[in-house]
Amino acid sequence: MDNILDGKKLAYSIKENLKEEIENLKKRGITPSLSVILVGENKASHKYVSFKEKACKELGIESSVFKFPENTTEEELLGLIYNLNKDKRVNGILVQLPLPKHIDQKKVLQSIDPLKDVDGFTPYCLGRLLTDNPLFIPCTPKGVIKMLDAYRVNIEGMHAVMVGRSVIVGKPLSLLLLRKNATVTICHSKTENLGHITSKADILCVAIGKERFIKSSMIKEGAVIIDIGINVASNGKVIGDVDFDEVSKKARWITPVPGGVGPMTIAMLMENTLQAAKLQAERFE
Ligand code: NDP
Repeated sequence: MDNILDGKKLAYSIKENLKEEIENLKKRGITPSLSVILVGENKASHKYVSFKEKACKELGIESSVFKFPENTTEEELLGLIYNLNKDKRVNGILVQLPLPKHIDQKKVLQSIDPLKDVDGFTPYCLGRLLTDNPLFIPCTPKGVIKMLDAYRVNIEGMHAVMVGRSVIVGKPLSLLLLRKNATVTICHSKTENLGHITSKADILCVAIGKERFIKSSMIKEGAVIIDIGINVASNGKVIGDVDFDEVSKKARWITPVPGGVGPMTIAMLMENTLQAAKLQAERFE
């Protein structure tokens, strides 16, 4: 197929470039480092963290994973983040989401030093994005834009429809598309006539967590389709939010799942960690 936005291939080449940059930084005595906090036994979270660790290893980024049991208290997490914020050897801090329900996720994320917020989820980083002065851009939305740019997809003036309005994907991606001069429509679970709106999109981004939800009748001929969803079927197979088999026949470009947005997210995390290492170096020099 010649309409695949190959995130896996692109992520590989981005990581190769980062690897070289990291080698050069190391010659200056700077080794980027990432601390990941993982709470509970959520299988998907454990898997994502292992992907992140693997990527760090490949690129020469130091990584530490702090694993906590499900019944960990908010205070314990805040205490660890307080120490990591102060630790000059730590460049990036990432809290794997979701956190258990008894922990105030917002409070925990807010406690991260914005200069170490490689996920870009602190109110400070999100505010910087909103005010057109980004610091760290959330990895998934950043990866989507990188991919569109790499494949020379024209965003300016296009009608981009974002389905999903989460703080980690939908909202920041909508802002990034707007920064690229798209005309953006944001849809969510209360949107009426969703199919009518999606079928008007030149660029359709979907992050809802509903297996094969977007059908070919809901898209415009020749549209660019970005499928962010990750749904694990009972047989363990990973399936996107878009019905790839039918939609891919009508789309100009489409991301596969797996192998589309997922690998780009990891590559962007590596890029943000490198960016953090450089910022830290300036801060403490
Ligand atoms: P959330 O559950 O936080 O948000 C889901 C959003 O989808 C909400 O805004 C919700 O609307 C909307 N929604 C749900 N059902 C419908 C529907 N029937 N019609 C229209 N909108 C709907 O999810 P996330 O944003 O965190 O994640 C979304 C998906 O992306 C998941 O599958 C997740 O695994 C995946 N993901 C993938 C990543 C990657 O690297 N590829 C990274 C992060 C997430 P409302 O606000 O009204 O409730």
